[in-house]
Amino acid sequence: MLISKLAELSGGYEELRLLLGDQLNANHSWFREATPGVLYLLAELPQEQTYVRHHVQKTCAILAAMEQFALHLDNQDHQVLYLTLDEGAAYLTLDSLLDDIICLAGVSRLTYQQPDEYRLHAQLAGYQHAQLTRVDWVDSEHFYLPMASLDDYFTCGKQPIMETFYRRMRVEQDILLEGGKPFGGKWNYDQENRKKLPDKVPLPPPVQFSHDVSDIMARLEAHDVKTIGSAKPMLDYALTRTESLTLLEHFLENCLECFGTYQDALSDRDWLLFHSRLSFSINVKLVSPREVVDRVLSFWTENVERIGLAQVEGFIRQILGWREYMRGIYWSEMPAYRDGNFFGAGRELPAFFWTAETEMACMRSAINASLDHAYAHHIQRLMVTGNFCLLAGINPDEVDAWYLGIYADAFEWVQLPNTRGMSQYADGGIVATKPYISSGQYIQRMGGPCKTCRYNVKEKTGDDACPFNVLYWNFLLQHEDRLRGNRRMALMYKHVERMSAAQKKEVTAQAQQLLCDVNSL
Ligand code: FAD
Ligand code: SF4
Repeated sequence: MLISKLAELSGGYEELRLLLGDQLNANHSWFREATPGVLYLLAELPQEQTYVRHHVQKTCAILAAMEQFALHLDNQDHQVLYLTLDEGAAYLTLDSLLDDIICLAGVSRLTYQQPDEYRLHAQLAGYQHAQLTRVDWVDSEHFYLPMASLDDYFTCGKQPIMETFYRRMRVEQDILLEGGKPFGGKWNYDQENRKKLPDKVPLPPPVQFSHDVSDIMARLEAHDVKTIGSAKPMLDYALTRTESLTLLEHFLENCLECFGTYQDALSDRDWLLFHSRLSFSINVKLVSPREVVDRVLSFWTENVERIGLAQVEGFIRQILGWREYMRGIYWSEMPAYRDGNFFGAGRELPAFFWTAETEMACMRSAINASLDHAYAHHIQRLMVTGNFCLLAGINPDEVDAWYLGIYADAFEWVQLPNTRGMSQYADGGIVATKPYISSGQYIQRMGGPCKTCRYNVKEKTGDDACPFNVLYWNFLLQHEDRLRGNRRMALMYKHVERMSAAQKKEVTAQAQQLLCDVNSL
C-alpha cells in the first residue's frame, strides 16, 4: 500500500523504517518479505533541500528516484508512506516529521539504515521520542566494508595510503588475483593509462533516459527551493535499478575498452568521453559496488580478446579502491576533517563558478558541463576546477559547498575527502601524498582547449599568460616552507631553484594582481 497524504495515515503499525534519499537499495534484507506491521517512510524534506544549494537536476534526480523506489516497494506489497514537499514542507526538520508520524502511525519502534553522512548520523543518533521503546540502526548493506569493520582498516591520524588499502581489498575480496598474486603481475596499471584522446578515436554513443520531472520542478518552485544549474524537465539520469543496470551494460559494451587509456583525457568533443556516469546510481544505492565489479569481471571474461587488463584493473580500482577508501577516511576523520585548511586559504569562490563566464577555456568547459549536466568527469574536477581553487587560495568551505551542491553524485561522505582532501590538500596530506597542482602545460597535454583560449599556455608571465602558469609558480613560492620537505615535490622545487630573484618577484607581483581581480579572468 502506498500512502501519500498524512491525513490518510492511520495507527496500528509496530515499526517505522526510515529511508533516506540515498538509501534506495532494493536488495537490502529489509525488503526480503513484506511485513504488515512495518511502515516505510520516504519524504521530501526542506532540510535536505537547503543544507547546501543543490543543482536542480540533482534534486530532481534524487526525488524522482525516491518516488520510483516507493512505487517499487508498493509493488512488492510493502506499506509505504511517501510524502512530497507539499506535505513535507511544513516540517523544517526530519525530527519534527518523525515526531508526528510516530504518533499518527502508533509505532513503538524506529529503525533506520546507518546514514552515510555524518550530519544525518548525528541527527538520528540524537533523536528521541517518548512513545518509542526501541530505536535501532542497521547497516545499509551497500559497501564492500560494513560500517562496523571500518576501524580495522582506518585509524584517525594514521591512515593507510590508498594503494596499500587497495591491495588489501584485492586480496581479501579475491579480485584479479592468481595464486594469491596480482593477475598479470602488477597491482596497478596506471602507467599504461592516462593518454590524450586522439581526434580519430570514435566516441561511444550516448545512452539516453528520459523522465518527465516537471511536477517535481513545479514543487521546488512552489516551495521556493533555491537551486543552481540548468533545469531539464526531461531528465536523462538513470533513476531506477533497471535503468542503472542498463547504464552499466552500456558502459561495458561501449566504454570499458578505452576507459583506463583515456581516463585522464580532457576533450571538448564530448562531456562524458569513456566515463560510466554510474556514480549517481551507485551513490543512491540503485546498484551496489560489488555487483558492478562482479559484472565488469564477468564481462571481461566473455570479452578478454577485446578488453585489456589495464582497462579492467583501472576501473575496478576506482570502485574497490578509491570509493571505499574515501568512505573509510571520512568516517575515521570526521568531524574534524571538515575544518581542515592546511594552507590557510581564505579567498571567495569567483562568481564565474556559477555562470561559466570566464575567458579560461578549460574552466569554461568544465563549469559548463557541471551546470548543464550536474556532472563533470574526474580530471575536470581535480585538475581543472579543483586545481584552480587550490592555486588561487580559495577557502575550502566555499570549494566544498560548490562541489557538494553542483554534482548529482555529491554526498558528503565521498565529496568531502575528494574535495578537501584529494583536491585541496586542506587535510595536510591524509588522502593525497602531495598537492594535485599543475600549470597550464598539463591541461594542454591532456587535451585541454588551449588552442581556442584567450590566454597563452606557453607564457609564464605577462597579460596573456595562462593564469594556471602564474598561479602555479606563485603557489610553489608561497608555500615553499610547507612543501619543500615533501619528497614528491622535489622535482617541482628543482625548477623553482632555477628561477632568478627577478623572475620570482615578477611571478609574485603578477599573481597578486591577478588574484585581486580574479572575477575578470
Ligand atoms: P567513472 O570515471 O566512470 O568511474 C567509475 C566509478 O568509480 C565512479 O562512478 C565512482 O563510483 C568511482 N570513483 C572514481 N573515482 C572516485 C573517487 N575519487 N572517489 C570515489 N569514487 C570514485 N565522486 C562522487 O561519487 N561524489 C562526489 O561528490 C565526488 N566529488 C568529487 C570532487 C572532486 C574535487 C574530485 C576530484 C572527485 C570527486 N568525485 C566524486 C570522484 C569522481 O570524480 C567521480 O566519482 C566520478 O567523476 C563520477 O563519474 P563517473 O561515474 O562517470 O565515474
Ligand atoms: Fe586553460 Fe590556460 Fe589552456 Fe586557457 S591556456 S585553456 S586557461 S590551461
